[in-house]
Amino acid sequence: MPHKYANMRERINANAIRVSCGCLIWISKTTPGGYPQMCVRVKGKVKTKLAHRISLADHLGIKPYRLNYVHHICNNPACVDPLHLVSITQRKNLLERRNNHGAF
Ligand SMILES: [Zn+2]
Repeated sequence: MPHKYANMRERINANAIRVSCGCLIWISKTTPGGYPQMCVRVKGKVKTKLAHRISLADHLGIKPYRLNYVHHICNNPACVDPLHLVSITQRKNLLERRNNHGAF
């Protein structure tokens, strides 16, 4: 994998487009569920990771594994805008989903 981007933020922005609703939509590979995927090198091995988790971790200045479940407050699975993402526990997410059926 060539290193053609200066940093992770630049790489994410190069693979996403800003749409009218304000979301930064991933236009590269996604999961069948529509979640953004990207290949990253971890300890010399190329692994496929969820790009929205990497985007939020990069924004917060932490490693992706330190994040709990990452929730899209915009309810757009393909969005990688870190300002539209929150890291919460799985349990809290389930409660939130039950309570507000996905309204922004
Ligand atoms: Zn969004």
